[in-house]
Amino acid sequence: MTDSFILTGIAASPGTAIAPVLILRELELNLDSGGGHELATQLRRFAEARNIVREQIMKLREEASAQHEEWTIKIFDSHLYLASDPELLGSVENRINENGVRAEYALLLSRDEFALLLENSGSEMMVERAGDLRDVTNRLIAVLTGQKQEDLSELSGEVILAAHELSPLETAQLDTKFVKGIITETGGYSCHTAIMARSRGIPAVTGSRGILGLLESGLQVILDGDEGWVRGRPGEAELKTAREKLAEQLLMKEHLKAFRDKKTQSLDGTSVNIGSHLGRLSELDDALRFGAEGIGLFRTEFLFMESSGFPNEDVQFEAYREVLERMNPRPVIIRTMDIGGDKTLSYIDLPAEDNPFLGVRGIRYSLRNPEIFRVQLRALLRASAYGNLKIMFPMVSVPEELKEARNIVDDEAEKLRLGGVHISQDVEIGVMIEVPSAALLADELAEHVDFFSIGTNDLIQYTMAADRMNDEVAHLYQPLNPAVLRLIQMVTDASRKHGLWTGVCGEMAGDPEALPLLLGLGVRELSVGAPQIPAVRELISRLNLKNNNLKG
Ligand code: PEP
Ligand code: MG
Repeated sequence: MTDSFILTGIAASPGTAIAPVLILRELELNLDSGGGHELATQLRRFAEARNIVREQIMKLREEASAQHEEWTIKIFDSHLYLASDPELLGSVENRINENGVRAEYALLLSRDEFALLLENSGSEMMVERAGDLRDVTNRLIAVLTGQKQEDLSELSGEVILAAHELSPLETAQLDTKFVKGIITETGGYSCHTAIMARSRGIPAVTGSRGILGLLESGLQVILDGDEGWVRGRPGEAELKTAREKLAEQLLMKEHLKAFRDKKTQSLDGTSVNIGSHLGRLSELDDALRFGAEGIGLFRTEFLFMESSGFPNEDVQFEAYREVLERMNPRPVIIRTMDIGGDKTLSYIDLPAEDNPFLGVRGIRYSLRNPEIFRVQLRALLRASAYGNLKIMFPMVSVPEELKEARNIVDDEAEKLRLGGVHISQDVEIGVMIEVPSAALLADELAEHVDFFSIGTNDLIQYTMAADRMNDEVAHLYQPLNPAVLRLIQMVTDASRKHGLWTGVCGEMAGDPEALPLLLGLGVRELSVGAPQIPAVRELISRLNLKNNNLKG
């Protein structure tokens, strides 16, 4: 056995994990979209791939059945159905016959066509089907291109995933029963992958450059998400220390359970509202389990990222309604889609940008694409009848953008009312403060909104000019730098002056060092990953906010 080794990275999500590594390598697709391929060969390749994939799924189904895993059996049944679906298979064969393209190219086109139909069907069941469709087509592509694919739905034991990069959506979809830790070579503390890992309670180390060269699947590692290191081939003494740390963390979690169902109050009785982040609807259970007093930031772009075309108004309405109904009467702050930066959609052609984080992102995209924005706003307004909705806009730089966005909300609300649709009269409208200009112009912005929500993740990166994704400049990404704190104070001052309330929905809200400062400045609403709620609540219960001469 070779020696133990250690590699550091960024402590992206707290907790310790001990498990074998599973390396995720991306499927390489050399897409030859040209015609002229011999039809018989392509049809035969496709038929062979189908048979292999059907056999793979049948084997997995048998295994699940032996373990009595009813839910997994259902998924494999659905996969088997799709792998034999005459409509889907017929469509691929037609494409091959008509265009003489390679089987994998025909398959991808048909997959996109069918996925779009499923996702726009307005039925939740059909939307889930689209995910199954992608799983099955990935299997087929892997067979057609002779690549081995790690299938995360097949996991049957605990693993620590290692990848060059994991997208925010992939992280959001991981099964926490088996995925005990995440290691990536790229990414900083505030990249969306790290935020998702914290929201899901999965320990993670990001920005661990070169680690894939040292790891192989099956190798045992210890991951420390509090200190940001990964140890490969640990010795007995290192394993013992890590196990002790894990046991302590479990004890701490038990202790914090008492804070799940309490109201958040400081030592002097000041109330604070701790909401949970939300990316996917499946995270709602955790929000409720960990005692969220609301949803502090629903990142709706995940709904858009999960489909292969823009989800239509009814699909969006159902999603928003579910969140509002289940959280009612607690407040639910839904942010309009924040596409751009590290959150992209496969089905739109954003112009290539040298600096996507400074480009068409958030409200800028929405205002340039009013037909898409209006669909989202209509879905939100219709859903407002089912709970306590607050809407906010991301990436606002100047008051004009805010005014334009508000006018569109008012216009859609008016049209819905005229059409006899019941919408709530009490929907508050807020603006995210995540660009320095917005903080500097907080006084002007205050005139058009009911609340501010400070998006510190972006506010820090834009203030310090330090890319939140780039681990090489992580040392400059300083939440407590006076430059950042002064901007936050400008916002809380403006908010107080105009009688608004201010929340923080960036990751600073869950940072024990930053929290007393934020509360001292007058912040009374927070959004954190659901598993962080009890610890944040416990910390606040020990703080005295009364000696503070700024009124909350
Ligand atoms: C932020 O910027 O702080 C924020 C909450 O938005 P996101 O992390 O989605 O960019
Ligand atoms: Mg942001």
